[in-house]
Amino acid sequence: MTELDCYFCKVSRGEADPFIFENRSFIGIFDTNPVNPGHALVIPRRHVVSVFELNDEEQSDYFDAIKGVKATIETTNFEALYTEMLSRDYLQGRPMDHIETVLKLPFFGNQPDAYTVGNNDGRAAGRSIDHLHVILLPRYEGDVENPRGGIRNVIPGRANYQRK
Ligand SMILES: [Zn+2]
Repeated sequence: MTELDCYFCKVSRGEADPFIFENRSFIGIFDTNPVNPGHALVIPRRHVVSVFELNDEEQSDYFDAIKGVKATIETTNFEALYTEMLSRDYLQGRPMDHIETVLKLPFFGNQPDAYTVGNNDGRAAGRSIDHLHVILLPRYEGDVENPRGGIRNVIPGRANYQRK
C-alpha cells in the first residue's frame, strides 16, 4: 500500500475524519466504528507503518498526542459527537451499527473508568490498515463481564492466569 491509497494518509491530510487533536507529528480522530464511547485513534502525520519506525521527533511528540487525545475524550459530549457522526456525508451508505450500539450502552455518557491503550502492530496482530494508529479505548465498569487480563484476551485461551 502506498501513501496515495492509504486511508490514514488521507485522514492526516485533512480529507476524511475531523481532527480532535493535532501536534507537530500526530493527529487524533474519533473512530467511526466505535467499540466503546469515545474510542479514538492517534495517527502519525507521516506514513509510518510501525511504532518501532517512529523517528526521534515523532517519539518525542508521542505522549503529548496520547495525553491530548485523552483530554479531548474526557471533554467531549458523546451524544452530540455520535449524532453528528451519523449525519456525516462520507459515512452515508455504510453500516452504522457500531455507533447505534454505543449510543444504547447503559454506561453511555459516563466518564471513562480506565483505558486500553494499544496498537495492532502488524497484520498478524489484527490490523487492517498499514499506517500506525494507536488505539485509545475508554473502558467502563461493566463493559465486559470480566475485564481481568485486559489485553491478554487477544489470545482468549491463554488470557486468564492465577498468581501462585
Ligand atoms: Zn499512510
